[in-house]
Amino acid sequence: MTVSVWQDRSGRQHLECDVVVVGAGVVGSYLALRLSKNGLRVVVLEARFPAAGATGRNAGMALAGLGEYYHMAIARYGRKTARAAWERSLQNGRRTRELHEELRLPYDACGSLLLALDEAEAGQVWAAHELMKEDGLPVILHASDPLDRGFAAALEQPQDIGINPVAFTEGMLAASDAKLLQNCEVYALEPENDGVCVRSRLATVHAAHAMLATNAYSPLLHPSFSGHVLPTRAQVLLGAPSPPVLDTLCYANYGYEYFRQMSDGRILMGGWRKHFADVEIGYADETTEGVQKGLEGFLRERFPETSPEVEMRWSGVMAFTPDGLPLVGTLDGLPRVGYAVGFNGHGLGLGIATADELIDTMLHGAPPGLFSAGRETLKRLGTNSPALTH
Ligand SMILES: Cc1cc2nc3c(=O)[nH]c(=O)nc-3n(C[C@H](O)[C@H](O)[C@H](O)COP(=O)(O)OP(=O)(O)OC[C@H]3O[C@@H](n4cnc5c(N)ncnc54)[C@H](O)[C@@H]3O)c2cc1C
Repeated sequence: MTVSVWQDRSGRQHLECDVVVVGAGVVGSYLALRLSKNGLRVVVLEARFPAAGATGRNAGMALAGLGEYYHMAIARYGRKTARAAWERSLQNGRRTRELHEELRLPYDACGSLLLALDEAEAGQVWAAHELMKEDGLPVILHASDPLDRGFAAALEQPQDIGINPVAFTEGMLAASDAKLLQNCEVYALEPENDGVCVRSRLATVHAAHAMLATNAYSPLLHPSFSGHVLPTRAQVLLGAPSPPVLDTLCYANYGYEYFRQMSDGRILMGGWRKHFADVEIGYADETTEGVQKGLEGFLRERFPETSPEVEMRWSGVMAFTPDGLPLVGTLDGLPRVGYAVGFNGHGLGLGIATADELIDTMLHGAPPGLFSAGRETLKRLGTNSPALTH
């Protein structure tokens, strides 16, 4: 990222604080809340406005787990890591509920269903269920379709909740004692004495630590994220109000499609990215006919009685990582700059717990945690760039 001499107003205002947080999505806002409540002076620098990124554009589904069935996660990461990641997401869910209650925000305690599209996926549902039960993870198996919509089987996760992610983010920021500067893009991070100097559009901030909560935008801020944080587009549509057909959050087709009915009867549906994986990448904020038609077709086929009218369509940018787990660490050469990024489409399920890991390792001397960027799975993939350290 560069800035021109004409645009640079970073010298107009100099601020000092303990921690400067970059990005005011759900992760940055949670960091601001926890750190400021711990008595630290916190400044939040946000390029646009709170929840301007993926946080303000998602489906509001706070689900336990990762982006794949449990036994598949075990095959990929090993049982210990998969189980720890699941437990981390359950902890994230409990904290999300607590925060909603503390902030007096409504949420939908409706649980979720992971729906198998066909018999082959039903086999995965059964396999996942068996190992989740063995590991004491909360799950209920439905051997047939609990919705009676032509799905082959389902896993129910009763503790999952639906939220309004913008209200949650704004609520955390409002409850924090952090100073927020909006419309204030950060463009340089420099070491300074025992801390860091962060230059942004409206201010230069001198802090003991900086924490990046910039998710998909991280490679635009610092080159060491290139190849580690992959911007990936997701699209959504919102139907006109329909009679009640759904009282739970739904994932289908290995999580590629997801949908929920809001309290006003409108159905929010996202996904269909799998069919256009080669083009649904990058930062362009646009919807495309192919994906949108796919989403509409899915709804028509499974819920033919709902309104065919579409009220809204939008897109957002998620951050994928090479091994599917978030990244926590500090920048090489900038040990006072940490990051909690790369949520692989599950930031509501893992963002808070990942932010906690960043705080614990960076400020409280905890050893590298589950999502450390120095982890073995990344090393095996050969993507452990020397620029991203734990
Ligand atoms: C369509 C869609 C549906 C989704 N559905 C779900 C779901 O149902 N459940 C779920 O768990 N997850 C879902 N996700 C993923 C989820 O939204 C993200 O994982 C989560 O919001 C990431 O939060 P974040 O705070 O890390 O990043 P973001 O919300 O992207 O926030 C990053 C912030 O950093 C700011 N920023 C970036 N660069 C700079 C800079 N240089 N200076 C200052 N500020 C900067 C941005 O403006 C932005 O506000 C979905 C995503 C999309 C796009």
